[in-house]
Parts: sequence; C-alpha cells; structure tokens
Amino acid sequence: MSMAWVYLVSAVGLVQGLKFMGDPARAKMGNIVAAGSVVLALIAVAIANSDASTSLLNPALLLGLILIGTVIGKVWSDRVAMTAMPQLVSIFNALGGACAVILGLNSAYGDVPVDNKFLGIILILGGVFGGTAFTGSIVAFMKLDGRKLPRPVMAHKYAAQALLLAIGALTIAFLFVSGLPFPTLLLSISIAALLYGVFFTLPIGGADMPVLISLLNALTGVATLMAGLLFHDPVMLIGGILVGATGLLLTTQMCRAMNRSLGNVLAGSFRTGGATTNEAEQDIRSITAVETASLLAFCKQVAVVPGYGMAVAQAQRECFVLQEQLRQNGVDLHFIIHPVAGRMPGHMNVLLAEANIPYASIVDMNAVNGKMEYYDAVLVIGANDVVNPAAENDPTSSIYGMPIIRAYKAKQVIVMKRGMAKGYSGVTNTLFDRANCKILFGDAKDSLESIINELKRI
Ligand code: NAP
Repeated sequence: MSMAWVYLVSAVGLVQGLKFMGDPARAKMGNIVAAGSVVLALIAVAIANSDASTSLLNPALLLGLILIGTVIGKVWSDRVAMTAMPQLVSIFNALGGACAVILGLNSAYGDVPVDNKFLGIILILGGVFGGTAFTGSIVAFMKLDGRKLPRPVMAHKYAAQALLLAIGALTIAFLFVSGLPFPTLLLSISIAALLYGVFFTLPIGGADMPVLISLLNALTGVATLMAGLLFHDPVMLIGGILVGATGLLLTTQMCRAMNRSLGNVLAGSFRTGGATTNEAEQDIRSITAVETASLLAFCKQVAVVPGYGMAVAQAQRECFVLQEQLRQNGVDLHFIIHPVAGRMPGHMNVLLAEANIPYASIVDMNAVNGKMEYYDAVLVIGANDVVNPAAENDPTSSIYGMPIIRAYKAKQVIVMKRGMAKGYSGVTNTLFDRANCKILFGDAKDSLESIINELKRI
C-alpha cells in the first residue's frame, strides 16, 4: 500500500475520532481512534523518510519516543483529579504551542536555508501562534490552579502592545528587506511571541477565563496547521484546521455567553471594584437537608443549576438519583446549564452525561430565563457566579453584563455550598441575601445524599 493511502486512512480516522468525541457515549472510543490515527501517520512519515541520512526519523527511535510520551501522558492523566482537568488541558495546549516553536526553529537552523518568502511566513506564523499559545496556556494553567500571579496593571497591556508592534515590524522587515539572517529573525520573533503570551493573558481573568481558554486552543490549532503546511503532513494540517476552526467557533460562543466582544476581553480587566457589600454584611438564611427535602416533596416543578462545586463534590451521580427519586414523588426536575459554568467549556454537560441524566431534562438557559417564576424551587448546586444578580444590576461589578441564570426569580432558591467563599470571579453574590434564598451548608454530595434519604422516607 502506498504511503498516500496510509495518510488518507490516518486523516479520515482523525476526523472520525473527533466526530465520535461529540457524543458522550462514544467519546472514549473517539479519543482512541484519533490518537491511533496520529500514531499511524507518524509511523508512516518515519518509514517514508527512513533512509540512512535522516537518522532523526529512524522508525525505532520514533516508536521509542511515542512510547515514552504515551507512558508519561497516561501516568500524568491518571494522577490528575477530575477537578484539575482544566489545568491539565491547559498544559497539553501549552505543549502543542511549544512543539510548534521548536519545529520552526529547528527548520530555520537546519541545513537547508530558508530562501523563500512563503516558507518563511509559515515559520513566522507558527512561531507567533505557537509561542503565544505556549506561555499564554502556562499563565492560564496558573490562574485555573489558583497560583499567585502579579496583579494586572496597565504596564502589562502596554508591554503586550509593544511586543505585538515588534513582531509586526520584524515580519515586515523579513518581507521587504533582503539579506537579513532568517534564523536570528525567527528566534527574535519567537521570543517576542513567548513574552507576548504572558503579557496578553495576565490582565484577562475572572469571568473571562472561558474565552481565553478557547482562544488559546484556537491559537495552538493554527500553529499546528502551520507545521502541517511546513512538513506537507495532511494529518497535522487537518488536525490544525479542525482545532483552529472549532477553537474560534467556541471563542465566539463563549464571548456571546459572557455578552462581551473579543476585543473587550483582550483589552483585559483592570476593574478592581465590584459589589460593595461583603459576606459579613449579608443577611444569610440557612436551611437543613431535612427541611429541603420537605420543601421539594411539595413542589411540582424544580430546577437544578449545577456549577463548579458540583464537579468538586463529584455529585453528578447524586443529581441523577435525586431526579429519579423526585420523579417517584411526582416532581419534575430540570437541569439548567450556563455556558461558562465549571472550569472548561462543556464541563457541566460532560458530568451530567457521565451520570446518565437524560438530555431531554436539560433545558436551555435562554428558553427558561424569562419564566423562572414557573419553578417552585431552584437548587443551585455548587454554582455561584452564573446565578449572581450583580451581573444584571451592579455596573461596578467585574461580571456586569454577563448573562446569568435568573434563579433569583424562582419561588424558592436553595444554594448548596460549604461556606461563604466567593465564586471564581471573586464577586460577592447578591443572591444570597434575597428573601427567597436559603443556603444549605455542606459538601454538595453529602447534602444531596441526605436529601435523597429523607425523600425516600416521606
Ligand atoms: P463558581 O462561581 O466558581 O462557584 C463555585 C462554588 O462552588 C463556590 O461558591 C464554592 O463555594 C462552591 N463549592 C466548591 N466546592 C464545593 C463542594 N464540594 N460542595 C458544594 N459547593 C462547593 O462556579 P460557577 O458558578 O460554575 O461559575 C464558573 C466561573 O468560573 C465563572 O466565573 C466562569 O467565568 C469561570 N471559568 C469558567 C471556565 C469555563 O470554561 N467554563 C473556565 C475558567 C473559569 P464554597 O467554597 O463556599 O463551597
């Protein structure tokens, strides 16, 4: 079989694998098919280039490297807690960007001089997108992991703008000035892009993180696309196009979910103000699990708003059991998912699908937001920012303008959380002191188990 056929099989396998990932039931198989297709393509490249002069593409060496990478990836992924998955995804994204920079520099400093403008531009774009994605994803990892980072100041924004100008100027110089040493030029552009990644991500934070994560994902996709063009590798090219395009689509969707323009997000958040109340001044009413169960037993229509805390508590399975139990008690339970709930796009959808919660009971936030009064009770399970009315009525708040699930309009709201910690954006939640809101303190999984046990007794 000629190598072209192997590339075709790998490319089709990669696309099919990604398609499987769209369906939770087949996602695991999709992962295996996509990874297998990439390994097949790598082996094909090695075999096609396995003459003695190109020792780096020695098939045995390549297989050894794939094996080492597989073992490291497997051990690392197994050790990571489910709640730290978004951080792991950021690190993987960073590695993709780093690869693009290394591949570009390796080609520029290689034996064959880069003497054509098209190839040069591909290498420059790979360095710019890869470098930005690498350091940007490292900063995103640190933000998601709650690590200490310098406070965003205007100087970061100016530094990012200056670096962008420098990258533009060096690229124009490459196009119009002859005799410039290309390897040094690419190295300078790559270093500027690495620094740019740090300065452009530092000021983006709080609630804008989902947009940043999807954008960095898209940048890695474009960097991979450039590497695919460089090496005439169809699998890399298709993978890069798909990741870049889906990343861009996700970025626009996340912007819409936050009601922000991309320019606005990239301009960074320097707002330090926000809700003037703090938790100590809030008038909090608590409720017990037994009282919550009694309340739910007399409801007709209930909704759950899941958030990051549900992922921390790993309470998705209990949500399924609660739905079943309530159904037996004659109560209908809906799930309302906010697009930025959790710590990565689709986080809540994945967890609810994993717990076999029927897709039909997941309702669209926009479809129900105008009629929340219809719900006798809303259970907010580990969500905070996505139900914070400050986003609608406090113009000084950093989340002002972000569409929220209007849980506060339901007849009763019960928020499950462990203490009085703020949400990811660090804004005080003005839902908590509304007259119709009570807090059920404790780990969400424990609280749900107590409610379910009580409902069984009623
Ligand atoms: P959130 O605002 O971060 O709030 C999570 C809540 O869960 C906290 O109030 C916390 O309070 C509670 N909690 C934590 N562990 C718990 C447990 N074991 N049991 C019960 N409660 C627990 O979450 P969200 O409403 O889902 O909002 C998501 C936020 O993250 C948004 O600001 C979004 O922009 C941002 N973000 C999203 C993504 C994405 O792609 N989706 C990525 C990065 C950032 P206690 O500690 O008091 O329990």
